[in-house]
Amino acid sequence: MVTVLWGGGDSVLSRSAAVHDEQLASRAFCRKFCNLVKSGCVSPELKMTGAISPQASRHAITGAGLSAVASAKADIRKSKTSRWRAAALMTLNLFMIAHIIQWRVMGKTISPIEPSETMQTIQGGFVNAGFIFFSLAILATLIFGRFVCGWGCHILALQDLCGWLLKKMGLHPKPFRSRLLVYVPLIAALYMFVWPTAYRLFHNPENAPLIPKFTNHLVTTNFWQTFPSVAVAIPFLFVCGFVTVYFLGQKGFCTYACPYGGFFGLADKLSPGKIRVTPACNQCGHCTATCTSNVMVHAEVKQYGMVVDPGCMKCMDCVSVCPNDALYFGFGKPTILVPKSNALKRSYSLTWPEEVVGALVFLGSLLAVRGVYALVPFLMALGCAAATTFLTLKMWRLIRARELSFYRFNLKSAGKLRKAGWAFAIFACCWIGLNAHSGWIRYHEFLGNFAFQKIHVPDELALAQVNPARWLNSTERENILEGKKHYDAASRAGLFVNSEALPKLAWFEYLLGNAEQSIQLLGQAASYQKDESKALSLYYRGAILNRLGRYEEARPSLDQALAERDDLILARQEKGESLWQLGRHDEAVAVWTDAVRHNARLALVNNELAGAARSLGKLEEASAHEKQADQFTPDNPFYHWMLGHRLQDLGMTELAEKHFRQAEQLRAGNEMPHGR
Ligand code: SF4
Ligand code: SF4
Repeated sequence: MVTVLWGGGDSVLSRSAAVHDEQLASRAFCRKFCNLVKSGCVSPELKMTGAISPQASRHAITGAGLSAVASAKADIRKSKTSRWRAAALMTLNLFMIAHIIQWRVMGKTISPIEPSETMQTIQGGFVNAGFIFFSLAILATLIFGRFVCGWGCHILALQDLCGWLLKKMGLHPKPFRSRLLVYVPLIAALYMFVWPTAYRLFHNPENAPLIPKFTNHLVTTNFWQTFPSVAVAIPFLFVCGFVTVYFLGQKGFCTYACPYGGFFGLADKLSPGKIRVTPACNQCGHCTATCTSNVMVHAEVKQYGMVVDPGCMKCMDCVSVCPNDALYFGFGKPTILVPKSNALKRSYSLTWPEEVVGALVFLGSLLAVRGVYALVPFLMALGCAAATTFLTLKMWRLIRARELSFYRFNLKSAGKLRKAGWAFAIFACCWIGLNAHSGWIRYHEFLGNFAFQKIHVPDELALAQVNPARWLNSTERENILEGKKHYDAASRAGLFVNSEALPKLAWFEYLLGNAEQSIQLLGQAASYQKDESKALSLYYRGAILNRLGRYEEARPSLDQALAERDDLILARQEKGESLWQLGRHDEAVAVWTDAVRHNARLALVNNELAGAARSLGKLEEASAHEKQADQFTPDNPFYHWMLGHRLQDLGMTELAEKHFRQAEQLRAGNEMPHGR
C-alpha cells in the first residue's frame, strides 16, 4: 500500500508498489528516491522493509533506466568530507562571533563580510568587505563552481544543523519541487543588486550619477548598522533554518529564497569546475541518495558525464561515498556548452495549475510580510513566503485528498482527518492567518507611507510656528487625514509597534495642529528606535517643544538626540534656541558657534549669532555673521518668512523685520499669506 504525501495516487511509485517480489533496495536508498517522485514518499510499512521495486525507481529517476537499483542492498558508506565541511562551517561561525566580539571590545572593525553589504556599494558607492567578498566569491564560482555556498555560508550551516537535528528526531526532510519557484533566488538577486541601478537609469530626479563615486568603507564603527536587531534575528534564523528545512527540504532556503544563490547558480553554469565521472560508475545511486542538495547525481553523470544541476554545492559527499570511486572534481566543458537532454526527466511536487497558484501565493505572501512593522527583512520575507506557499498548497491537498501523509505522520486516511492532520491544519491556518493579517497591516502601512510621501510642506516652514495649518490646502489636508487614518488602523490592529510609522504619524498630527499628540508619539517612537532615526525623532520632539515654549523639556530631548548623533547640526541649532530662551545666552552662543564650526553655511544659526552679537553690542561680529547668513539664504519668500519668525521668537526683532520685508518683496503674488 502506498500513502500519498504529495500529488496524485497514480504516481509511478504507487503503481509499482504491488511488485513485492522485486522489493530489494536498501532503506536509505528508498527514502531518498521516494523524494524524487511526485508522490513524495512511500508508506511507513514500505519504509520499514526498505522495499522499492527497480522498475519503480527506473521510472522515477530517469524515466529511462537504472539497472543496478536492485543491487543496492549494502549500506551506503559515510561521507568523509562531511566532517571537513562541518569543521569549515563551524570555524566560519566562530570567526563571525570573534568578529562581533572584536568590534564590541575595540569599537571599530572590518565591515561585515556579508554579500548583502554589496547593496551599499551599488547604491552609495561604499566599498566594503561584503562587496569584496561577494565579488571574489562570484569570480571563484566562475572557475570552481558553486562551492562557497557549501563550504562558507552560515545560513547553510544553520540548515545543515536543522536537517541533522530533524534526522536525530527520525524526521528526514523531503524536498519540495517546484518548476516556477526555483527562479525566485535569481529574481530576488536581480531585484537587490541590479534593480536600483536600472531604476536610476529611468527615474533620476536628483540627477545622481548612475555609477556612484566609490569611497572606502572597509572599516566601520557601526558594524550592526545594516543588520536587523537581535529580536528580529532570532525568528529570522528560525524561519530560514528550521521552517524552510522542515517544509521545503534540507536546502529549502537555498533553493527558493537565497538571492546570493541566484547569482552563484548562474555562475556555476559557466564554470569549468564540476563533479565528473569515470567509466567505473555502475549506477548504484549511492551518490544521489547522499546528496542533500537533491541533485540526481547518478542520472546526470550518466547523461552528461558530470553534475550539471546548479544546485550542486560541491560538498564532495557524493565523491566520498561512491563505492567505485567513480566521481571526482575536475575541469572541462561548462554546463552551458553541453546540449540539454530530454532523457533526464525531473519530477515535481506540483501540477501546473498548482505551480501558478503557488507563484501567486508566494508573491502575495512576500508583499504581505516584507517590511511589515518595519521589522521583517527581505531574506526573511522570502523564507516566510516559501513556507506559506507550501502550507497553502498542502492545506488544499488536505481538504481534497482522501489519503495524505507528511513525514511519518498520517494526516488523513480514508477521507478522515487524523490527529496529526488536525495539528497540521491548525498550524497551517495560524501561519496563513498570520500572513493574511500581516498583509492587512502592510496595506495600511503602505497607504500611510504613500500619503506621507505626498506631503509638500517643507519641515522648516512647518516648524516656524506651532500650528502650520495655514500652509495646507484642502487636498493636502485630506491626504494627511487619509494617511493618519491608515496609520491609526495599522497601529490598532498591529501585533507590534512600527517604529518607522510612529514619527510619520507624529508629523501628520503636528501638521493637523495636534502638537501635544505629536510630542507624545515622537517620544514613543524614540523609545523603539536607535541611531539616526532615534536622533531625528528626539530632534523633532525638541523642536516642537521649543515652538510651544516648553524650553526646559526641549533641552533634554535635544541633548539625547545629540548623544545619539553628534553630527545632527539641526539639534544644536534648536538646543541653542532653548538655552537662549532660558536666559543662558553665553551657553546658547557657544552651541551656535559649535554648529557653524560644523557647517558654516547655516543661514538661521548665522542670523542667530548675528542677533546675539548685536544684543551684546558687538556690531562688527554681528555684521560678519549677517553677511555669512545672507550669502547662503535662498531667494525664497517662505524661507525669509521662516527666518523672520524664528528670529522674532528669540527677540531678535531687527533681523526678523529685515527678513519679513524681504519675504514681502519676494512674495510676488504667490500663495504665501500676508502678515506674520
Ligand atoms: S557515481 Fe558512484 S555512487 Fe554514483 S551511481 Fe555511479 S557508482 Fe554509484
Ligand atoms: S552533487 Fe555531490 S557535490 Fe554536489 S551537492 Fe550533491 S553531494 Fe555535494
